[in-house]
Amino acid sequence: MTSVSLDVLQRVAANATEIRPGDREILTRQLGRDPRGLVGIGARCACGAPAVTITYPRLPDGSPFPTLFYLSYPWLVREISRIESSGEMVAYNDRLAADPEFAAGHVRAHESYVARRDLLDEVPEIAGKSAGGMPDRVKCLHALAGYALAVGPGVCPAGDEALAQAGWDPNVCHCSSDDDEATA
Ligand SMILES: [Zn+2]
Repeated sequence: MTSVSLDVLQRVAANATEIRPGDREILTRQLGRDPRGLVGIGARCACGAPAVTITYPRLPDGSPFPTLFYLSYPWLVREISRIESSGEMVAYNDRLAADPEFAAGHVRAHESYVARRDLLDEVPEIAGKSAGGMPDRVKCLHALAGYALAVGPGVCPAGDEALAQAGWDPNVCHCSSDDDEATA
């Protein structure tokens, strides 16, 4: 497994931290699979549980992996899904078409995403590709919210807005409510 220093991780994302004991187990539970290519945690729940993964742009099996930030935190995944299915996706894309400042922010977010990933490795197969529909669409709010959570506000406007709509509060832990629902 490629190991990445905390200094590099925090240039990739301001909120990044190194992998701690127990993180992989929690992520495997959250994702329902092994977190392949994991190099760091992009953001955490108030309790310390991982909320966003940082994945190396080439997986251990050699395949390119464009999704640098992946939202793993079950409560937020669910809230974002609720927003996506409520028709908000149309509103986001309408706003990209109508609001030049919002659209320019989305393009800048795209460029920043690629530059951050290139700090880990420049993988030719995914050069210039980002995630979530950037630079010109909003296709996956999970990808944009995970990105915004890891890098902090002001980088990805659509992701910032999705987090606000979801009622994300870095001081509140929703992990136990997930356990309740999982066993209900
Ligand atoms: Zn928690």
